[in-house]
Amino acid sequence: MSARVASIPPTIFSEMSALAVRAGALNLGQGFPDVDGPASVVAAAERAMRDGANQYAPGIGVPGLRQAIARHQERHYGLALDPDREVVVTTGCTEAIAAALLGLVDPGDEVVVLEPYYDSYVAMLDMCGARRRPVTLRAPDFRPDPDELRAAITPATKLVLLNTPHNPTGTVLTREELQLVADLAIENDVVVVTDEVYEHLVFDDALSTEGHVPIATLPGMRERTLTLSSAGKSWSFTGWKVGWATGPAHLVQAVLAAKQWLTFTSGAPLQHAVAHALDHEPDWPAALARDLQARRDLLCDGLAAAGLPARRPEGTYFATTDVSHLGWADGRELCLALPERAGVVAIPTQGFHDDPDAGRQLVRWAFCKEPAVIAEGVRRLAEAD
Ligand code: GLN
Repeated sequence: MSARVASIPPTIFSEMSALAVRAGALNLGQGFPDVDGPASVVAAAERAMRDGANQYAPGIGVPGLRQAIARHQERHYGLALDPDREVVVTTGCTEAIAAALLGLVDPGDEVVVLEPYYDSYVAMLDMCGARRRPVTLRAPDFRPDPDELRAAITPATKLVLLNTPHNPTGTVLTREELQLVADLAIENDVVVVTDEVYEHLVFDDALSTEGHVPIATLPGMRERTLTLSSAGKSWSFTGWKVGWATGPAHLVQAVLAAKQWLTFTSGAPLQHAVAHALDHEPDWPAALARDLQARRDLLCDGLAAAGLPARRPEGTYFATTDVSHLGWADGRELCLALPERAGVVAIPTQGFHDDPDAGRQLVRWAFCKEPAVIAEGVRRLAEAD
């Protein structure tokens, strides 16, 4: 194994999902829903396969999907995009992240990233040889500190990697928080790459209730922002791995330059099906968000009853708890013991920090599961010794 990959720990998601299967435990760890998205979208995938969309798609993505993505950005955010130059389809948002970093970051470049970070960001930053500059969202509120942002984003910064709604904390960045990032990015001539895969999974009480604000919509930001998203979370097809990057042509070109050597092109029939989802199931994500809000409350109430009060996240699939409330000093130890002791799996988030002490006691719980599964999970936790 190369030193490049050997130095990166294996992803916690595979480790904990394998543990769930081995122990026959309920998986409140990895973020995937246990019910699939709309049947009409599955039918569109079948139709695309029968109609012969089974050979290589164009590297940039099938035109129908790129046009549907452009319409989606216009409809929701008023962002007008040229589907031929400002949209590229990727194999899930994970490939968009990889291709964006490979396409934009040189070894030694400084990249500012919110911490706790989604683990693939750090793996890719390491593979690119980037220098990481974390800005920590601290418990219990998980908001960015303006002074820390100001200290982190400087003329030495090459790129800011944002994520809102934020995995694992569930924080949805406010317009004010984003405006500070935008001001600093403009002042220091920095590119912003923003992972917005949970863009539609935002709840009623999202702070000022403005909900999700794409930083690309702030004045002066469209020309320096690459926005990443996918169909996996919004339409409950996480296994399809259809994602995209949108933004000014020079940034999209950088993604495409790297993507052509990673996957060359993404799965053709699924691209047609996702175009169908974007155009013909536009209200599905909002209905999912309403459902998820009730599941979030079920989980947070249940965790609190089991002795683990959780801040109610404004968005995403996830809530985070501090397990020191139960007398545990280390979230990873609790997560390794839980399958045996309670028949439940969760994700320790200490590995999502540069300084593991900052997240030592934090554990992430997924509520993108059927209500009966969540209810059973919290019942088991309450009864565990
Ligand atoms: N994004 C999902 C999560 O955070 C899945 C992660 C993964 O399996 N790599 O749980």
